[in-house]
Amino acid sequence: MLLIRCPYCKEDRPELEFRHAGQAHIARPSNIAEISDEAFEEYFFIRGNPKGLYFERWRHIHGCARFFNAARDTVSDKFVATYKAGEKKPALGTPRAAPAGAPAVKRGTAKVAGSASKRNAATRRAPVANAPAKPARGRARKK
Ligand SMILES: [Zn+2]
Repeated sequence: MLLIRCPYCKEDRPELEFRHAGQAHIARPSNIAEISDEAFEEYFFIRGNPKGLYFERWRHIHGCARFFNAARDTVSDKFVATYKAGEKKPALGTPRAAPAGAPAVKRGTAKVAGSASKRNAATRRAPVANAPAKPARGRARKK
């Protein structure tokens, strides 16, 4: 079970006690009635979706019920840090950085051992040759 540290309760608690609350550090424009539609769209709808370190808000809904911020690695799903709402982003390195002296590994070049991965690759390869063609989705128009 994923454990999340609440910075107010100062405890590692199960993920089930928390609720995700979106990207952190979104600053509301002070003159929101005067900004352009594009600027409003950027503020209101557009959110980051990084691969790696991501700063987000969480709420300890079944605990102290307070909002806090967290830095989470979106690849490993590990929480790098949690801190109280209103505090600045902690200075964090890239969580996925290889330790010094480790050989660099390119993604997709690692060889996968075992027959299970080969079997999966084979089943993914092509549809069955004599399978009937799938009907088109949606309503078919009669001519
Ligand atoms: Zn709490």
